[in-house]
Amino acid sequence: MPLKQYQQKRNFERTPEPKGKLLKTGKNRFVVQEHWAAHHHFDFRLEAEGELKSWAIPKEVPEKKGVKRLAVQTENHPVDYLDFKGKIPRGFYGAGIVKIFDKGKYELKDKNKDRIIFKLKGKKLKGDYCLVKTRKNKQWLIFKL
Ligand code: MN
Repeated sequence: MPLKQYQQKRNFERTPEPKGKLLKTGKNRFVVQEHWAAHHHFDFRLEAEGELKSWAIPKEVPEKKGVKRLAVQTENHPVDYLDFKGKIPRGFYGAGIVKIFDKGKYELKDKNKDRIIFKLKGKKLKGDYCLVKTRKNKQWLIFKL
């Protein structure tokens, strides 16, 4: 069931986050959210197959070539999350402030189960990027090409 993991982690009577549903729009959008949770990080999300494929990046999305950053895959989020910003209340999953760092469209260039190559067309993030799986479970690297 799509989004089951996302929905199980949250209490929608308390969090302002969208409950969401599978929504195939055919638009290739992305968002990067800056999240002041227990550990400050960035959430990188790519719209695909009616959901947002998601990674938590403990440092930042590289804006220069030659910088590789860890990106830990997290549960798929609903497409409605593209616009989410706000405060997740204390005591709940992901508690803390969420702001939109950047958003826009992307162009998929190549994809297999271990690697995604895409061009970001954001306000801050622009250009060709690669996300590649490492040998560790859920751990990917993101870098600019
Ligand atoms: Mn987060």
